Amino acid sequence: MRCAIVGSGLAAIAGYATLRHGGLAAGEITVFGTDEDPTAQWRARAEAIRQRRMRSESDGHLAPAAFPGLAVREAARRGSLRPLLASVADRYHPSVDDFLAHADEVRWRSGWQRSFVERRVERIRAVDGGFELDGEGPFAHVLVATGHPGLARIPGTVHAYEPHEYASRVAIVGAGMAAATEWLNALDAGAEVISIRRREPLRRPLNVPRPYFSKRGLAGYHALSDERRAAKLRELAAPSYPPGPAWDKPLETERFRVELEPPAGCQVIAATGFKQGYRHDPLLADLVETHALATHGRWIVLDPDSTVPSLSSDTRTLALAGIAAQWAFPAADTIAGAKYSAHAFLRRICRTR
Ligand SMILES: Cc1cc2nc3c(=O)[nH]c(=O)nc-3n(C[C@H](O)[C@H](O)[C@H](O)COP(=O)(O)OP(=O)(O)OC[C@H]3O[C@@H](n4cnc5c(N)ncnc54)[C@H](O)[C@@H]3O)c2cc1C
Repeated sequence: MRCAIVGSGLAAIAGYATLRHGGLAAGEITVFGTDEDPTAQWRARAEAIRQRRMRSESDGHLAPAAFPGLAVREAARRGSLRPLLASVADRYHPSVDDFLAHADEVRWRSGWQRSFVERRVERIRAVDGGFELDGEGPFAHVLVATGHPGLARIPGTVHAYEPHEYASRVAIVGAGMAAATEWLNALDAGAEVISIRRREPLRRPLNVPRPYFSKRGLAGYHALSDERRAAKLRELAAPSYPPGPAWDKPLETERFRVELEPPAGCQVIAATGFKQGYRHDPLLADLVETHALATHGRWIVLDPDSTVPSLSSDTRTLALAGIAAQWAFPAADTIAGAKYSAHAFLRRICRTR
């Protein structure tokens, strides 16, 4: 049996580690991707916004088994109960350095480099026995984890997820987590900061409320009609950042204010996130068109296990992971979401073995 993963980011390594843990040999899996280091894209973006701590909690790790999470590992390493206590109260956010060290360990332990082929896949075609990727195959089971389809840019400005320093006067467009992080960064660098936004951002501890990470919450989500599901996803996409004094206190300064348009002559940073929807990803757009896949708005319609229903059967699987899998899991663009798709993919494969 041959399996393929298309993509080489956090969702891909989570999928790969899960398959290897589930008993597949490295020789049974091919990973087609652009970066041999699965943290490369994520690391560059996190560095650009000077992220020091993970947004996710202890369970936001890439190891195939849920236990031990990152809090348990840190507690054991430091000989301290503090990470565990913080974790119980949902207040544990591992450092980015710890997460990257853990990701590196998963990469080397799983044998990822033995399966990795450097290639950007341009076409997926359903054929007898599975799927051909740019004419190569067939692969019986394919997990597509190609990430966000590019940054949502404002011409002539730097994007928050690209390397940048701060001028003495900075206008930051956007009102989500990246924007809030940039307000604090630029204030910290001594700049005068102007937040450019049309409405007040929501304050939520997580972009996607906790119930949607549970079986029960998901069952309710999967029971929604297509219209209501799309409306829910649009609602969850509204800009938000966490509540709390760590975010609010630094803004109580005369150097911070809100306006509708950037004043002339200041540096503009676009904290405007990513382009949204499968149409912006050439591989997915081609797949939808060629195989006439069901879509709703900007989403590809998926079964609850993240598979494309019309192309998956008892003998073959086409599944999505990462942001493109939101129809199945609202928080698909998180490490927890990557693992949700990965485990469902492994279950499908095991059923056909
Ligand atoms: C700054 C930032 C911080 C975040 N922090 C957290 C956090 O703390 N916790 C959390 O849970 N989530 C976090 N997230 C959300 C999420 O975990 C990341 O977006 C993560 O990178 C998603 O992984 P991915 O594999 O879907 O996409 P990516 O990591 O972007 O990887 C996609 C990969 O696929 C490759 N690719 C694309 N198209 C093709 C193709 N056709 N053929 C082959 N390869 C292709 C790309 O080049 C890339 O290597 C964060 C996101 C950002 C932007």
